[in-house]
Amino acid sequence: MPPGPPPSPGPRGWARCLDNVADLLRRGAWYPIVDDSDDDKVVIEVRKKPVRISRVDVTVREAPPDQWSVVVRTGVLRPTLGGREGEEVTTTYAVCPQCQERQDFSGKPDAMKCLRCKKESKVDWSETC
Ligand SMILES: [Zn+2]
Repeated sequence: MPPGPPPSPGPRGWARCLDNVADLLRRGAWYPIVDDSDDDKVVIEVRKKPVRISRVDVTVREAPPDQWSVVVRTGVLRPTLGGREGEEVTTTYAVCPQCQERQDFSGKPDAMKCLRCKKESKVDWSETC
């Protein structure tokens, strides 16, 4: 038998959740896949715990994330938050690919430096979460 490729260490891939599971996972954050042996589900590590999630609910990539995810969410203000009732507000923030910290930004930067882990990464403008 010819020798196969050596087993690759580390995660089997990375998963980012779609909107409908954002309660469980942080929007815009990539989580390492620890088991992808099931056809319908992947197991990802969330805060050191394995979480089984449907493949249809996540975006999967093989390479480690190296760009900020841009999260855009639109919500309706509640009067308790000081706005006019029913007013729509859009909140935009980026999620660090290294430490998953949320960070605000203004304009449309090409790259940002994380205030928490001090690493600079490019910003992924190709899609928003
Ligand atoms: Zn960071």
